[in-house]
Amino acid sequence: MRLLLVEDEPLLAAQLRDALTGAGYVVDGAQDGLEAEYQGLNEPYDLVVLDLGLPGRDGLTVLRNWRQAGQSMPVLILTARDNWHDKVVGIDAGADDYLAKPFHAEELLARVRALLRRAAGHASADICCGPLRLDTRQARIWLDDAPLELTSHEYRVLAYLLMHRDETVSRTELTEHIYAQDFDRDSNTIEVFIARLRRKIPADLIQTVRGLGYRLACPGTAAAR
Ligand code: CA
Repeated sequence: MRLLLVEDEPLLAAQLRDALTGAGYVVDGAQDGLEAEYQGLNEPYDLVVLDLGLPGRDGLTVLRNWRQAGQSMPVLILTARDNWHDKVVGIDAGADDYLAKPFHAEELLARVRALLRRAAGHASADICCGPLRLDTRQARIWLDDAPLELTSHEYRVLAYLLMHRDETVSRTELTEHIYAQDFDRDSNTIEVFIARLRRKIPADLIQTVRGLGYRLACPGTAAAR
């Protein structure tokens, strides 16, 4: 899952980035509204954390412009404390949730998890596929009742496939959602991660869809048959 964090206060931005990265997400950062708007229009983020008070262009305008352009990713806005007006206007502008400053990083993480889950159509914090279980709270994946030992990239690939279980996911899509913007991306490495994952889980769970990509085929669901 790849997130955009828009926050102009350097210390807070660094703290939030650490918290989000620690929770297994890939994080791109933006410090002003114009940069944020451009990135949100041009990169396929799974979620955006958007501070409203920004230099360059205010967060509400950025959000409205994204929604007008048809960008539907979940957006969590950060508002000044006790500013109910910002919350109302923000939600009307297309925000999915808000947090008032100051807040605990744990609360941000809980809201991010909930938004990502809902965006992918999952009701529960645990996302299962056959013997696999993604615990979104712990950022861990279990095989039967044992935690899988995964590198951070392997985790991101498998977590993305689990969030999109029974859907075909292209290599390009996987690449876009597991690497940060400044990372030297190579979609061939996806094949390497998939090969390693197939040695760690029942190999037939990850199906290759020729010419299209991969699909995590969950036993017992229509798409797996
Ligand atoms: Ca600010």
